[in-house]
Amino acid sequence: GGSFVEVRGLRVGYKVPHGVVQAIDGVDLTIDRGEALGIVGESGCGKSTLGLGLLRLLPSNATTSVDTFRVGDTDVAGLSQAAFRREVRWKRVSMVFQSAMNSLNPVRRVGEQVADAYRLHHPQASKREVQARVDRLFELVDIPRARQRNYAHEYSGGMRQRAVIALSLVCDPDVVIADEATTALDVVVQNQILDALADLRTELGIALIVISHDIGVISHTCDRVAVMYAGQVVESGAVADVLASPRHPYTASLMAALPRLTGPRFRPVSLPGSPPDLADPPTACRFAPRCPIAADICTDVPPAFDPDHRWPARCHFAGDERLRQLGTERTS
Ligand code: ATP
Ligand code: MG
Repeated sequence: GGSFVEVRGLRVGYKVPHGVVQAIDGVDLTIDRGEALGIVGESGCGKSTLGLGLLRLLPSNATTSVDTFRVGDTDVAGLSQAAFRREVRWKRVSMVFQSAMNSLNPVRRVGEQVADAYRLHHPQASKREVQARVDRLFELVDIPRARQRNYAHEYSGGMRQRAVIALSLVCDPDVVIADEATTALDVVVQNQILDALADLRTELGIALIVISHDIGVISHTCDRVAVMYAGQVVESGAVADVLASPRHPYTASLMAALPRLTGPRFRPVSLPGSPPDLADPPTACRFAPRCPIAADICTDVPPAFDPDHRWPARCHFAGDERLRQLGTERTS
């Protein structure tokens, strides 16, 4: 394809005492340069596993396979571990880890931590070059220069998160994966972080993968969204399309939890039941046991994901009329 990043057939299984947890089961993604792709889905659906799998940072009980992983002209899937570490991790693709803002070193000034990270990857850099680069990174994430001298505990949560984003940028990556980058923060600060990420796209042309359980966060930052359920993408397309008329019942139920700014008011109704055991998922549609419009075919035949639709959905009843009312209850 013509996309800047292309991932096809990603699979990750975790070996556990009772079998294999298939946390990612055949995920495809494409992202253009400077584009933001959102990955949304409830806890345990495999979002972090996806990011860590792409960066080859999974624990040793994980087995990963991928048919295609290309960044620009680089066939990343074909690289040895050593070449991947040398050429791709942090340099082409970097990641802001879930809860990373609490992992800053408490006894080293934040500016020095960013300088350390830069020096690690650029051992030949002069003192002036390092300082210039650190200044630029702090500027990019909107932290005043004077604050480089502070320790992490002197930062607010939002500043710590922005410092962690600065760290993800030390090698000038093409793609940044931001895993729940705003989850622990209040709404005002969340929006500041999301705006900082958006600036990186426009100023540096970085492609973003924004991972969040909150579809509101995705709608604020992303051009396109992939909705994940139980290790699979169940719907993907332009944010505007998917949010305006979700085609998969799971997406519709996520949408129902979003506060509406206009139109009739709906009280969100949380989705009954829980996601399947990924060591033994339903063999046909994984969402069927929780789906309000499921029929016999849903437990008998795996639904296809039709990539020819403008926003495909993995559902036998994709785009069904009944989805409009799904999971919502009028309050007035
Ligand atoms: P959250 O929103 O809570 O961060 P997530 O979507 O990021 O969730 P993952 O952390 O990727 O989900 O987990 C996906 C599945 O893999 C879950 O069922 C989880 O229990 C399982 N899993 C994650 N890490 C391991 C591991 N090291 N060993 C075994 N199973 C794991
Ligand atoms: Mg996670």
